[in-house]
Amino acid sequence: MLAIPPSIALGRGHSAAGSLARRMPATGRVDRASAALLVERLTKVYADGTRALDELELRIPSGCFFGLLGPNGAGKTTLIGAVSGLVRAPAGRLFVFGHDAVAELEARLLVGVAPQEIHLDRFLTAHELLAYHGRYFGMPKPEADQRAAELLEVFDLTAKANTKPNRLSGGMRRRLLIARALVHRPRLLILDEPTAGVDLELRYELWSYLRRLHADEGLTILLTTHYIEEAEALCERVAFIKQGRIIDEGTPRELVARHGAQRLERAYTEAMRR
Ligand code: ADP
Repeated sequence: MLAIPPSIALGRGHSAAGSLARRMPATGRVDRASAALLVERLTKVYADGTRALDELELRIPSGCFFGLLGPNGAGKTTLIGAVSGLVRAPAGRLFVFGHDAVAELEARLLVGVAPQEIHLDRFLTAHELLAYHGRYFGMPKPEADQRAAELLEVFDLTAKANTKPNRLSGGMRRRLLIARALVHRPRLLILDEPTAGVDLELRYELWSYLRRLHADEGLTILLTTHYIEEAEALCERVAFIKQGRIIDEGTPRELVARHGAQRLERAYTEAMRR
């Protein structure tokens, strides 16, 4: 049972982002804060000439559960990398809650990313792993320990606090990965194919955690997925990405109507075909 105590309200109370903001001059702030993510003409050409993002435009409203759907190679991972600062020197502009994601470190601190591949240090216990992440983000040790304990509780992992990741089930490891992304209290959680390759039961279980996080905390979530029914079940808005561009965006209902389809899957296929 997922219960999120008010004390761990994400983005409230003490946050690494908040304390950093107080130390930083408010440079480059523009009035784009109503969007959790605003992407303007974002272009990324890799060294080998591959144009992964091509003047991509996207707006994710604050508090939205947003799905990004597209085939392999469409540019989803590159976009996530650009938002989290892993992809170097993209052209165009990128704002996270109004903060320039390239120029302002504050933007990085507002984002938590759960990557697709499960990379969890196998020498650390679940608690140590989360607390270590908190320390990395500048939390004092007592706060990092408290935050780790809170998140273990949220993801029903308290009984596994002293267990190392290789002794956890696949579902527990995925939950721990999402918990890790939330340690520093980001306001935008990015999930890169969180249910890729997992069985149906586990997928439904993860969905219920994500729904709760979104509903109880008002957390903005950007989810990339290959499973159209996943976007249909979870997302308030969905964008289709193809060859580095957003080719359509809207609520599932709007997309279905726009493409004269019955289901989102058909709307997606129609949009990709054009
Ligand atoms: P997706 O996540 O939607 O599968 P990616 O962002 O991984 O898409 O890839 C978009 C395009 O960029 C693909 O053509 C991919 O081969 C290419 N690409 C990704 N990373 C690199 C890289 N480091 N160097 C060169 N090309 C890359």
